[in-house]
Amino acid sequence: MASQKGKAPLEAIETASRDEISALQLKRLKWSIRHTYDNVAPYREKCKKKGVHPDDLKRLSDLSKFPFMVKTDLRDHYPFGLFAVPREQVARLHASSGTTGKSIVVGYTWRDLDHWANLVARSIRAAGGRAGDMVHVAYGYGMFTGGLGAHYGAERLGCTVVPMSGGQTEKQVTQIVDFRPDIIMVTPSYSLVIAEEFERRGIAPRDISLRVGIFGAEPWGEGMRGEIERKLGIDAVDIYGLTEVMGPGVASECVETKDGPVIWEDHFYPEIINPETGEVLPDGELGELVFTSLTKEAFPVIRYRTRDLTRLLPPTARSFRRMGKITGRSDDMLIIRGVNVFPSQIEELILRDARLSGNYQLIITRDGHLDNLEVRCELQREATASLSSSDQARVGTGLAERVKTLVGVTAKVTVLPVDSLPRTEVGKAKRVFDERPKQV
Ligand code: ADP
Repeated sequence: MASQKGKAPLEAIETASRDEISALQLKRLKWSIRHTYDNVAPYREKCKKKGVHPDDLKRLSDLSKFPFMVKTDLRDHYPFGLFAVPREQVARLHASSGTTGKSIVVGYTWRDLDHWANLVARSIRAAGGRAGDMVHVAYGYGMFTGGLGAHYGAERLGCTVVPMSGGQTEKQVTQIVDFRPDIIMVTPSYSLVIAEEFERRGIAPRDISLRVGIFGAEPWGEGMRGEIERKLGIDAVDIYGLTEVMGPGVASECVETKDGPVIWEDHFYPEIINPETGEVLPDGELGELVFTSLTKEAFPVIRYRTRDLTRLLPPTARSFRRMGKITGRSDDMLIIRGVNVFPSQIEELILRDARLSGNYQLIITRDGHLDNLEVRCELQREATASLSSSDQARVGTGLAERVKTLVGVTAKVTVLPVDSLPRTEVGKAKRVFDERPKQV
């Protein structure tokens, strides 16, 4: 590992007292709730229905009186119905997958983009990055928040950015060898594919220029941290975020403690709730993570239910609270190679093909470091009898193409004759078989 450059000074708020943080949060929360209520009609309606008004917020704990926002709100008001500023004031759009195949869209004003860049810069600094470092960004660029989110944060810190994006593993490695970056930002699973390419070329970890890796967008555990650190000769830290709340950099881990992402609480107010009852749980208890944005202008979120299950942990390296590892989700969203996939999206594509019955299974496995998705589907009785085997194979390739273009993941599609898949006689059909090893 290359030597660390001098310690960069922290922002005052990162080491402020809890009282100072709470005071800032309350001031910003009052603004954010008022801004959302005044400018986002669907949220105002929800508040009216619940009989709450921005004036009811006197203390931070009063937030629990306000209604939640959920992913389907974004879908129902697609594309711009939840924006709190006129479209002309939106400087950028990003998108993520929705529950039914239609993307959900979020927007940022210039000020929002400025805050986002600052928070990602803060995250890179927490990971040990400094001005003058070179940052290789292998998150995907485009509508996905990963690439551009990382990019502008690294620029903001004063780094040299290599906007490589995902894929082309051999080129990634050649560039890392030639340019000698200090930091890599990428999904943890893809970092191991890159590590394998280094191994294949006979390059030892100590000869790899990278010093730090900042990994997120999918769950990963301590086992994987150890493996990545060993294979690349780096410190590996965890960055968390989601499109609806901002993108990467809602929370990020400090290299000196590596004890869970620190939530940048001066911009996002976290709560943990019981996913069944909606009741707020005390710090330390496992439940669903909920975020309220404190400074966002274009797309404010009030009590947004992330569906991620985790717990809030006390401050350590910074004055802000931390989050534990994500232990699961309270909905059925799968993350396959960093892409969010809802089983309903695939089901919809299967049902659109009249030759296929609605019976299907999704099998997710891990082969080495990468996830594999197999879609097993079944022909209708008539199609089983009338289609030649090459026509049947074409049904499969057609579906695989639609899954790739519309859902964004590569799937192996297996087309079976009628009556091949088990029918569920009692209760909910079990369609998803996630056979990947559990991250601990
Ligand atoms: P992105 O994948 O860019 O972070 P998305 O909005 O596409 O943003 O997906 C957000 C979801 O990805 C989160 O709700 C969470 O389930 C998962 N996720 C993001 N970062 C992490 C992380 N560090 N650890 C575990 N899960 C993560």
